Amino acid sequence: MSAALPKLPIHDLPTPEPESPFRPRKPYRFSTLCATVENPSNKDQFGSSSVPIYQTATFKGVGGEYDYSRSGNPTRSHLEHHIAKISSAAHAFAVSSGMAALDVILRLLKPGDEIIAGDDLYGGTNRLLTYIRTHVGVTVHHVDTTNPSTLLPLIDVTKTAMVLLESPTNPLLKIADLAKISKDIKERAPDAIVVVDNTMMSPYLQRPLEHGADVVYDSATKYLSGHHDLMAGVITCNRDDVAKARQIAFTINAVGNALTPIDSFLLLRGIKTLAVRMDRQQSSASQVATYLHSLGFVVHYPGLPDHPGREIHQRIADGNGAVLSFETGDKGLSEKIVGGTRLWGISVSFGCVNSLISMPCVMSHASIDPATRAARGLPEDLIRLCVGIEDPSDLLDDLEHALIDAGAIQLDVSQNKYVKVRQVEDDAISRAVGKLGLKDTDGDHEWFVSAPGKVILFGEHAVVHGVTAIAASVDLRCYGLTTPRLDGKISAHFTDIDNFYCEWIIDDLPWHVVKPIAIDEEHPEILDQVLVDALNTGPLKDLTEAQRHARAASIAFLYMYLVLTRGDVRPSFNFTARSTLPIGAGLGSSASFSACAASALLLLHKRISIPPLPAPTTSEHIHISHQGRRAIPPAVAEEVNRWAFVAEKILHGNPSGVDNSVAVFGGALAYTRPGFERKSGMEGIAGFKSFKFLLTNSKVPRDTKKLVAGVGQKKIDEPETVAGLLNSIQSISDEARRALADPEMPREVLLAAISTLIRENHTHLVSLGVSHPALELIRSTTGAAPYSLSTKLTGAGGGGCAVTLIPDDFKEETLKALLDEIVAQQFDPYLTSVGGSGLGILSPHRTTGSAAYLPPGQVTPPETPSPGGGGVNLCPVFQAKRVLELSQWADSLGRWLYV
Ligand code: PLP
Repeated sequence: MSAALPKLPIHDLPTPEPESPFRPRKPYRFSTLCATVENPSNKDQFGSSSVPIYQTATFKGVGGEYDYSRSGNPTRSHLEHHIAKISSAAHAFAVSSGMAALDVILRLLKPGDEIIAGDDLYGGTNRLLTYIRTHVGVTVHHVDTTNPSTLLPLIDVTKTAMVLLESPTNPLLKIADLAKISKDIKERAPDAIVVVDNTMMSPYLQRPLEHGADVVYDSATKYLSGHHDLMAGVITCNRDDVAKARQIAFTINAVGNALTPIDSFLLLRGIKTLAVRMDRQQSSASQVATYLHSLGFVVHYPGLPDHPGREIHQRIADGNGAVLSFETGDKGLSEKIVGGTRLWGISVSFGCVNSLISMPCVMSHASIDPATRAARGLPEDLIRLCVGIEDPSDLLDDLEHALIDAGAIQLDVSQNKYVKVRQVEDDAISRAVGKLGLKDTDGDHEWFVSAPGKVILFGEHAVVHGVTAIAASVDLRCYGLTTPRLDGKISAHFTDIDNFYCEWIIDDLPWHVVKPIAIDEEHPEILDQVLVDALNTGPLKDLTEAQRHARAASIAFLYMYLVLTRGDVRPSFNFTARSTLPIGAGLGSSASFSACAASALLLLHKRISIPPLPAPTTSEHIHISHQGRRAIPPAVAEEVNRWAFVAEKILHGNPSGVDNSVAVFGGALAYTRPGFERKSGMEGIAGFKSFKFLLTNSKVPRDTKKLVAGVGQKKIDEPETVAGLLNSIQSISDEARRALADPEMPREVLLAAISTLIRENHTHLVSLGVSHPALELIRSTTGAAPYSLSTKLTGAGGGGCAVTLIPDDFKEETLKALLDEIVAQQFDPYLTSVGGSGLGILSPHRTTGSAAYLPPGQVTPPETPSPGGGGVNLCPVFQAKRVLELSQWADSLGRWLYV
């Protein structure tokens, strides 16, 4: 019979002896264990029914069990024994707060160790992790622990020392599969310690030690205490090596953060009612979650049927807890709701018998900077509810009043019930559009956009070492056209990347991993790697290594399409990009593509819109692109730039942001990298005058990384020489910047000054070892009589392009002769102006008399079908135009608006 007995948890409250061999007694259930504080090896001398408070610092005598309360105290021992019992633990420790518990645990680490931690952790946990990262030299990786596979690439048997998990997380109630993660870690890095913050659940609802965790801690300030009348933290552990000797017990004694006798007493008293409190609290929480869900709010609670982690949670936990959160769609509205409740106390923390309401982003999680909050998908409008033991009807009643008063719900007379006010989301959208100073247009799917490339005029290479670089836009542009499709597909056609074309069924895209970005939210600093991976392994899985450039461009395009999508509106269209810029020649072709893709997607998703055009004052056709300069409002440009930067991150990993800024804002700017003595940042050069430049593509391919590394090595080998060169280049950038912005300087003086600076900068670049015989040939050709022009390499050098300044009075025929000579040398010359307009958008509606552009619906059938099959007239012509004709044709279509 005894073989049939269930396995006993590790605790020593004895199950009474079997009454008879045929009627065995079962081990005590949790609430019995909670209420029964008994330690057979530590009986009270007077038989007191509650553990006395040994309010003493020292104990008399030598060799007794206790000598000093920092090291040990009978009240605390009772508490620790009790906690071990209810946590299935061999060891338990009580310290002064939850954070003190984490601090003790983190002291198990040493410099060079790595932690893998969740990305939705309690704010104070993040603060302490940041501290040990910056002060102790421990690397912290934050990952989305809802997907155990995201941890795998980070596990390193020699470095991974700890994994820190919360489940459910606070406040988004995301679920981590503690059992699976613990198993994965044990298999791959057996020495790593799996730590779980179990505060949200308490040992009543979840005992992670039973699922393979090594160390568990709780902020006992919460459910264990239950009354918000003390601060405490508890640590439980089954590993003797971690618990004893020089580890947890040692640290607590050494730093002296053990729980005081009086707080130990209070905590012990609180724990006795843990199970009853929790039962009531979670039953009410479930009612509140169901109520909010039925109103139409996005509710995070593992007890709801649509919670993504529900199944895992049910496997590892015994209940859903009493914390939930919901989104209203608007931060201001959330503030009104929180301020409108009476019974729900506005307070940080949770776990108390009284119900609490809070907005994590302005309260408990305010210590996390907004960008990181956004990166971790924490909505600014999120409201957290921590349900107490009051009567659930009163709690629901109070919440309903607050929702009505705030205007979040209203009575739907037809259904005779309250429903969420639908305008909530639309209000937020129109407010955000309002912020951009725009009207939300109807918009259709046909938009024509363009953005310029850039040249670095001064400071390339030196910029890597903290010297200021001057970059300016060139009048060679990337063009992007969106054409509607009617078949639920999205397609991309990158004409300049081996004429790449691919189409995808919109509903088959990896929507399940998309964390949409609300209209007034910025993209997090870090890319969503899960989404990038899902694109690589899903829609782009068939692309070959040879198609890596097309793959990168497709990821950038689809990534933005997915995260920018609003609600269920998923526009179906084709995007064709073409460039008049040479690709991969250091002229910012990728940034101009990024700006085009970003602006097209923002327009299609109606996140930006362009202001209506003023009525034309003349019937003459406007050909000059600069006519529309500054017609695109700065707020729109900035939004496009933010997203172009996201695309650049996808394409390049760690871009400086210079190229996309030039592509969007045009003109010229000075850029200094952060991390050096000089003031860092990016500054537009106001009043920059446009110059004519000849760009000559040597067509020699470059390895930018190798060239940059070469300069770095030279800096190590010949520090003084390189320091001298860097200083000289800084002076050139400073002088150029002053001259370019000086309104008083006569044009010919300015041109002469720039010409000299170009020559000087090139000489320094030669000394840095980044020129190439082809570039030197271009330089000597352009510098020889009768041309006598100044030329320098631009960008990484070692090939790529050279730039030659063309004075205003340079004769046409001489220029033609020069171009012929360059072509004869097998180089590609491009005549362009530098410092012109940034992003351009062609209104999709006809505005000028002679435009060749017809809006959708008034189409003449295309001679060649567009890849999308949408049958709109502009696309086939766009694709068929020769590169040399492209700009002029685009200009002729109508009035472009420019930044
Ligand atoms: N862990 C979680 C999940 C928490 O919510 C908190 C506090 O809010 C802590 C740890 C820190 O606990 P304490 O405030 O007791 O230091």
